[in-house]
Amino acid sequence: MPRAADPTSRDIYLARRRIAGLARPTPLVEAPALSRRAGQQVYLKLENLQATGSFKLRGALNKLAALPEQARAHGVITASTGNHGRAVARAARSMGMRAVICLSRGAASNKVDAIRALGAEVVQAGESYDESVERSLRLQRERGLTYVHPFDDPQIIAGQGTIGLELLEDLPEVRTALVPLSGGGLISGVALALKAADAGIRVVGVSMQAAPVMYHSLQAGKPVEMEEEPTLADALVGGLGPENHHTFRLVQRLVDEVVLVSEQEIAAAMAYALAEQRQVVEGGGAVGIAALLAGRVRPEEGPVAVVVSGGNVDLPLLLRIAREHGLQDRPPGA
Ligand SMILES: *Cc1c(COP(=O)(O)O)cnc(C)c1O
Repeated sequence: MPRAADPTSRDIYLARRRIAGLARPTPLVEAPALSRRAGQQVYLKLENLQATGSFKLRGALNKLAALPEQARAHGVITASTGNHGRAVARAARSMGMRAVICLSRGAASNKVDAIRALGAEVVQAGESYDESVERSLRLQRERGLTYVHPFDDPQIIAGQGTIGLELLEDLPEVRTALVPLSGGGLISGVALALKAADAGIRVVGVSMQAAPVMYHSLQAGKPVEMEEEPTLADALVGGLGPENHHTFRLVQRLVDEVVLVSEQEIAAAMAYALAEQRQVVEGGGAVGIAALLAGRVRPEEGPVAVVVSGGNVDLPLLLRIAREHGLQDRPPGA
């Protein structure tokens, strides 16, 4: 396959038109307690309220809607136990396309059920995520399906970039954006949109201390591989893939800084979101809040936007974190 060109801000406007009415524009809300802590006005972009519970729906919708007619007729395939699998299943259903989602045999049954409920065909194969990826690539060739990559694809990046356009409309004076960072599809899209408006907007990626692959890849000047580690930010786990075509270079070019947060800081941020903002946020979605709460980033003078990327957290886990942080039932901001 010839390598596709990197996306531009034009692709983000095209994406917005394709996904209009299918993904919702999400609210941008003030975060008073966090603003006091950071010394700047802080706003949260609530993608935990996106349909399917994460921003991944934007990229998936854009990718599927942009496929040529023949590819649409055959259907799509991916491997994911999490937010990407749900997003692809939902996007395919909304466009009347066939979707196959490959999961490892160990995948949690509630996640398998959720993906099936969206009408996708679930193929459980292999003992690990990597084995389910191999299976999905084989099925893709056998059945002539289109593989939908979770981040390293121009249409996926452009779809996620629609978050940047919404930020500019709701907060045109934004000076700093904090964006969760794993494979880099989200931050590449958001940074493309923001920097096209003003190259001086500071874009900061936030990853967890537990095996931050992009962080170490940037330091090495090339994609590196790392052993996965357990983390509350499970949506941020994973590597850049054996051949990264887009996101590594886009992040190198567009992201001003990457900061890391600890597991304790992620837990505190999830508790903060629940107590002060009445928002259910998963670990991967809470890393931007964590970076501000823990003082890991010094924002520019001026408004700060934090992308809260998802809310698909296991409820018993969130309740345990809430208890550990002594959350009591009091009105927000009291
Ligand atoms: C996928 C995901 C991310 C990371 O996105 P990348 O494009 O891989 O950097 C962040 N937060 C949540 C909730 C996700 O599902």
